[in-house]
Amino acid sequence: MARKTIGIDLGGSHVLAAVVDDAGAIVARAERDIADHDFESVIKIVGAAVDEVIASTKDKVETIGIGSPGDIDAATGAVRYSPNFKWHDAPLGASLTERFGCKVVVGNDARCATLGEYTFGTGRGTRDFVLLTLGTGIGGGIVAAGELVRGNLGGAGEIGHHQLRATDGFICGCGKTGCFEAHASGLGLIRHALALVPSFPRSALVSGKPEKLGSKAIRKAAEAGDGHGLAAWARYIDDLATGLANVIAFVNPECIALGGGVASAGAFLLDAVVPRVDALTTMVPRGKTRIVAAALGNDAGAIGAATMARRGGLSVPATV
Ligand SMILES: [Zn+2]
Repeated sequence: MARKTIGIDLGGSHVLAAVVDDAGAIVARAERDIADHDFESVIKIVGAAVDEVIASTKDKVETIGIGSPGDIDAATGAVRYSPNFKWHDAPLGASLTERFGCKVVVGNDARCATLGEYTFGTGRGTRDFVLLTLGTGIGGGIVAAGELVRGNLGGAGEIGHHQLRATDGFICGCGKTGCFEAHASGLGLIRHALALVPSFPRSALVSGKPEKLGSKAIRKAAEAGDGHGLAAWARYIDDLATGLANVIAFVNPECIALGGGVASAGAFLLDAVVPRVDALTTMVPRGKTRIVAAALGNDAGAIGAATMARRGGLSVPATV
């Protein structure tokens, strides 16, 4: 009988709990919205989602893996700090172990998604791989020589917070100025469009309320040839390419997979950004890093969390 593992992708507004088989396929799923960030409330909602997926499988569930935003103490399964949830030393792993009576492995959500995409998505067959998720922020992780890079305290892979424009950039959620995330996330695309409003006072993009402007509308406008959309898209592509070229300089990966909402633009994004990245690549041969759309979409986190649980940690040996 195939072993079944539960992978949980915990986000600030949503949780996905999935039963994942050995081949990385989701065989059952349960999802819940999260409105209240109080720790006990989140545990209750996560517990309800796990109860639902356990009920849907006849197999015994051996382990649970959970990816959570924030800085994780992998040895204890505690969330040392999560800006999303405003948690400090929250005993996430211990609470779920108590609730379900099985082994629970906890890791950072973006690193779990990287492990999932590396093992079962576009990273398959590579040894040096990077995932970047272009959503509200930029999450991701690095695989080098076939292992997920954790760093000394588990903080490696915070690619979104390397600075592109330290003096004249957008303010980042982390407090610094001009982070890659502030410029090249979905929110970054919106900020580029808003910054350009004075040049396009009659733009259809801002005929509604500015706070309602979404990254998809901007991308669609650019695809349709709208001047404001194209100008914002060009700035966005420049900043994304700069960051990707930096990643290539740091890591020299074989493949960079782009996930998240903006990456759903597919060829419209890749055809624009790849030549810019190549032009900015200097110290390794140009054009040798494949830049592709991620394959697992929003399931990467749960699949990766299950993979982590099976391995006993994000990287092997299990000194997570
Ligand atoms: Zn930042």
